[in-house]
This record gives sequence, structure tokens and C-alpha cells, in this order.
Amino acid sequence: MKIAIIGGGASGLMCGAVLAENNVTAVVFDGNEKLGKKIYITGKGRCNLTNKCQPDEFLENVVNGQRFMRGAINRFSSLNCINFFEEHGLKLKTERGNRVFPESDKASDVIKVLTKLNSKNQICLNEKIQEIKLDENKYVVRTDKNKYNFDAVVIATGGKSYSLTGSSGDGLEIAKKLGHKIVEPKPALVALQLKDKFVKEIQGLSLKNVTLHAEFENVKQQKTKLQLQGEMMFTDVGITGPIVLSMSSKINRAENIKLFIDFKPALSKEQLDLRLLRDFQENKNKNISYIIHGLLPKKLASVFLNRIEISENKKVHEITKEERNKIISCLKEFDLMYKNLYPLESGIVTSGGVELTEINPKSCESKLHSNLYFIGEVLDVDCLTGGFNLQTAFSTAYVCAIDLVNKIIKE
Ligand SMILES: Cc1cc2nc3c(=O)[nH]c(=O)nc-3n(C[C@H](O)[C@H](O)[C@H](O)COP(=O)(O)OP(=O)(O)OC[C@H]3O[C@@H](n4cnc5c(N)ncnc54)[C@H](O)[C@@H]3O)c2cc1C
Repeated sequence: MKIAIIGGGASGLMCGAVLAENNVTAVVFDGNEKLGKKIYITGKGRCNLTNKCQPDEFLENVVNGQRFMRGAINRFSSLNCINFFEEHGLKLKTERGNRVFPESDKASDVIKVLTKLNSKNQICLNEKIQEIKLDENKYVVRTDKNKYNFDAVVIATGGKSYSLTGSSGDGLEIAKKLGHKIVEPKPALVALQLKDKFVKEIQGLSLKNVTLHAEFENVKQQKTKLQLQGEMMFTDVGITGPIVLSMSSKINRAENIKLFIDFKPALSKEQLDLRLLRDFQENKNKNISYIIHGLLPKKLASVFLNRIEISENKKVHEITKEERNKIISCLKEFDLMYKNLYPLESGIVTSGGVELTEINPKSCESKLHSNLYFIGEVLDVDCLTGGFNLQTAFSTAYVCAIDLVNKIIKE
């Protein structure tokens, strides 16, 4: 059986590696001049290649495609993935949040291992696939250089973001032309743009231990509430940081999005009132800005007072009960005016892709055409940060490769 793997990224290379381990060879095509270009930039160049956790915990971190991933993650779990790389000579370490990295802190070492394991395969670099057609039982693959016939094709072309790494969404176009439905690609794990003008004044300011709340209508038009606690940061036109990136993945298909920050999630409104009363009592003749500086970073304090229309120089003893309540409400529910997600190009992953109901989760084979497979980010699967996205690429690649091996054994 002649097999083509379109894309020499995380999923394509893992698929080629598992095939080669089972004495099956394939032709791996990549439009780039080298393999695994996106892997180089993962985990800030350190490659958080998986998350050391049980399959159930993995599934909790899948935003779209949870049910689809159940089979693949059980067949090739993160523990299998860790063993796989260690058995092939890559020493790994586990950091905060069970994130697994190469001990060398070099993403290039992950690529080296995967490249070596693909040495029996034919690698065609600088060769972009332009079209795939089904001609009787053969797949006719047309590239910018040549035309080939294959018995089986694995589409591992990735998502649509960070297109300089080669993932420009070609796989989605190919899938569409072969009759597959595509869930509209949206950026995920991405910053959020706000309409609020004040963000420019405080860009770069980072907040720790705050809660970001979102209220929105989900795809089923149900009103939904979500809250995430942790760290976030202001950009020149919006917000970013760990909780914002996670939130983006949960709201990127939603409508009527409302956001607010709780600056003091550990305190109830009543507790905050008691704290303010005590602070007021002790600092009667100070300016209100003095009290607010005790509660919020300096840069944010003046934005905050502007928002509630209290002058920075107003004396604490002049603050009315109504104004004190305003301070409390604004500390607990500081509204942000949501504008949009940052562009697709800047998403760490793409949400959306090949519709999962048309793919067999046991093998990642198309239900429309036999011997056509889709693996990795080209599928409508996306996860939170922590190594779950690469694990998805590896697990889907594994089940696909094993299915091909089994077919060849039966031939
Ligand atoms: C900045 C950044 C940091 C990240 N960090 C992490 C992390 O630490 N941990 C984690 O789990 N995930 C991380 N991710 C996500 C992870 O990199 C991807 O989910 C993963 O690489 C997807 O693997 P893939 O094989 O589906 O696609 P890719 O790795 O994108 O590979 C697709 C390949 O297909 C090739 N290709 C595309 N179209 C064609 C064509 N027409 N012809 C030939 N070849 C083609 C491309 O050149 C590319 O090499 C990060 C992503 C980014 C952008």
C-alpha cells in the first residue's frame, strides 16, 4: 500500500514514526524547507510535548472534540507518549501543572527524535500539496512539483494560525473539495480585543489572582456563565495572559459576550466593605487614591477612580456610603467592553476544522472515503494549554498509523 502523509509537523511525523516502527514506509510531504517548523516554537522553544496525566484528566482539557478524543487518548495516552520519547532516547522532565518538556529545554530535540524515526520514509521537503483527487481507488496527489498516485493519504496539515510555520489551512480546502464539512476555523488560545480605550494607558500591566468572568450565549443560544482565576495582562488593545487565553477557547464560538474582572476574588462584597470601613477609619484625612492604591496596582488606580467618577484628591472622610458601594461593586465587577478575538493568525491553536462526525474516532479515517485520514489540528479538536494540543496530534497520529498497519497486515 502506497501511503502519503501530507504535513511533516507533530502529527505527520508521529504517524510516519509509528508506521516505520511497524516496518511500513510512507512518503512525507512538507511545503517547508525543514520538518516540524511549528514544533520549534512550541513552549517558547522548549516544547511542552505532553501533560503527565490520566486520560480522564486529559479529556477535561479538551475544549472541542472531547468525545472524539476518548478512544485515541486511551490508545496512546500521555504516559505512552512519555515512554515513547524516552525509549527513543529523549530525556524528559515534568514541571508545574504536569507539563512535560525535554530535559534539554530544546524543542529541536523533539524534532530530532521524530526525524530520526522517519528515516526509513521518503521525505519530500519544499513540496506543497495543491490538490488531492480520488480516481477510482487511487488518490491522485498534485503538488507544486509533480503528480503522484497513492493508495492511502493522511492529511496532517495542521490548523490555520502562525502560517509562517506552514500551517495555512490547505488541509481544510483539500478536505472540503473531497466533500468533508468544515467547522469554521476560529482562533483559540488567543488574546481578546476590547473597545475600552483605557487599556492603552495601562498596557503591560499584569494582574495576579484575579477572576475573569464571562457571560455569553453558547452555540445552542443558551445563556452561559464562566469564570477563570489566575493571571492576566493588558495589551495596547485588549487583554492576554493564561486565564484570557483559556477563556478565548471557551468563548470563540459564542455570541453577546460580556466580560468583567473581579479584582478581589478571595473577598465577598461584605468582607470588602468591612475592609474599606477599617481603611477609611484609619485614614480619614488621606486622599481616596491612597486607599485604592492599597487595593490595586498604582497604574490601574486612576483608571479605576475615573471609572467610578470619584476624584483622586477627594478626602476619605468625604466619601459617601453610595460612593463606597460603587467602589465595592467596581472592585468585584469591573466591566470590560469585549470587541473581538485577536486575529486567527495569532491563535496558539485553531478551533474548528474537519467536522468530527465524518471521521471514525478509532482510526481517524474519513467515513466518506476509505484510506483517507485526518490527524492533528486539521480536525475540529482543540485543547487548553499544558501540552494537550501536541498530545492530541500524537494520539490521533498513533491510531491512524496503527489502523494503516492493520490494513496492510490483512492485505
Ligand atoms: C507559538 C505556539 C506555541 C505552542 N506551544 C505548544 C506547546 O508547548 N504544547 C502543545 O501541546 N502545543 C503547543 N502549540 C500547539 C501545537 O504546536 C499544535 O497543536 C501542533 O503543532 C499541531 O500539530 P499538527 O501536526 O496538526 O500541525 P503542524 O505541527 O502545524 O504541522 C503541519 C505541517 O503541515 C505542513 N503543510 C501544511 N499545508 C501543507 C501543504 N499544502 N503541503 C505540504 N505540507 C503542508 C506544514 O508546513 C506543517 O509543517 C503551540 C502552537 C504555537 C503556535
